[in-house]
Amino acid sequence: MTPDSWNAGNDPVLVLYAGVLGAVIGSFLNVCILRWGAEPKQSVLRPPSRCPTCGRGVRWYENVPIVSWLVLRGRCRGCREPISVQYPLVELATALLWAFMVWRHGFGLEALRGAVFGTILLGIALTDARAYVIPDEFSLGGLGLGVLFALLAGRQPLTTALLGAAVGFGLLWLVAVGGQWMFKQEAMGGGDIKMMAMVGAFLGWQGTLLTVFLGALIGSLIFVPLTLAGSKKLVPFGIFLAIGAAATYLAGPAILSWYGGYVGSA
Ligand SMILES: [Zn+2]
Repeated sequence: MTPDSWNAGNDPVLVLYAGVLGAVIGSFLNVCILRWGAEPKQSVLRPPSRCPTCGRGVRWYENVPIVSWLVLRGRCRGCREPISVQYPLVELATALLWAFMVWRHGFGLEALRGAVFGTILLGIALTDARAYVIPDEFSLGGLGLGVLFALLAGRQPLTTALLGAAVGFGLLWLVAVGGQWMFKQEAMGGGDIKMMAMVGAFLGWQGTLLTVFLGALIGSLIFVPLTLAGSKKLVPFGIFLAIGAAATYLAGPAILSWYGGYVGSA
């Protein structure tokens, strides 16, 4: 990555601003998760937010991230039905994510890139968990953003991003085709393939391989016991890929050198 153009370090005021911006983005992310995961898919712009129970429109002052949910004590003002705790939690998580990135990278391009990447991963994980789909808006939209960030950073990052996207797409496509051939059923959805093209654009090809490895590892640790226990639940593999991608972004080189040292000493 090129040095950040305006690196103010971890200025607490900028970290706080990033957190507030993150909370607002998290509020919009809630709408994306809900409407892009719906069948059929709905617009995130229209209609404005309504209570799913009584249809009462949400006033602007009831739409302040985190705060409104607390003031309303988690209930609709119209019908007193509970409002899901997912809303303030997603807003809080996104706020912390954006604040963390500015704290870690300083105020600049890499902080924005990391925050956008993390927001997309959170959106994918939650949509896959709720609706078993990975919307193209997250995967292909994110692929476009990943390439754009690389383009802004220079020619070398752009090559890395395009190669990463190709490896992510190709690797998961091979897994899908291979799985279909071996098990005579769909092993990997198209959503996962497009998601890994997006991840590749942000992490490069080494990061893509590490993401798939970590995702498969975490996925099997959780799902093999469930399958042995007789559960026939669908596997929302996007969640594990999202966790693997986040771990790779945060600690990829450390994980690889730890693994290298582990293999080297064995
Ligand atoms: Zn209501």
